[in-house]
Amino acid sequence: MNTTQHCPGHEPFKSIQPIEVTCSKCNTVNEVFSDEVEKTHTCSKCKEVLDVKKALS
Ligand SMILES: [Zn+2]
Repeated sequence: MNTTQHCPGHEPFKSIQPIEVTCSKCNTVNEVFSDEVEKTHTCSKCKEVLDVKKALS
């Protein structure tokens, strides 16, 4: 019943890009991958929660 077709050879994943998110507290640039923007990320240096959504806009 399901007529949805899958394209063989088409990329199975969206292109994942690293996004640079600057920590608002210590200005360290952290890399967040574009498929993980919904997750909570913390600064690698000071553990401040990063505002990834703000970096995207
Ligand atoms: Zn920081």
